[in-house]
Amino acid sequence: MENCIFCSIAKKQSPATVEYEDGEMIAFWDVEPKATVHILVVPKKHIASLTELKEEDAPLMGKMIAIAKKLAEEKGIAEEGYRICINAGKHSGQVVDHIHFHLLGGQKLGSMI
Ligand code: AMP
Ligand code: ZN
Repeated sequence: MENCIFCSIAKKQSPATVEYEDGEMIAFWDVEPKATVHILVVPKKHIASLTELKEEDAPLMGKMIAIAKKLAEEKGIAEEGYRICINAGKHSGQVVDHIHFHLLGGQKLGSMI
């Protein structure tokens, strides 16, 4: 997808601090972290948002959860607790139109909204 920053990172055309990568997934630090640990888990397939997700993408979402869990353990935030969230659409404040999980932790997190 043209002009998509996360596709560009996945193709190594833009820089990122990568924590995990395989053939269909990449995870890297958020450039403006909102918590002590703030990593984005991103499928390499361009899916614009949760709203665009198709039933066939369900295994990919399962894999994203497993990777987020693994990274939480690796970063040492699993025991104290962490949050995984997805913004979808205008009201959520989604700014990058390529589906991603935010993995947040390493400190006490605020309320949901
Ligand atoms: P969202 O509001 O869910 O679309 O969040 C997008 C996130 O991507 C924000 O937290 C941004 O700080 C982050 N972000 C935007 N551009 C980059 C980039 N080039 N590298 C890493 N994170 C980015
Ligand atoms: Zn993309």
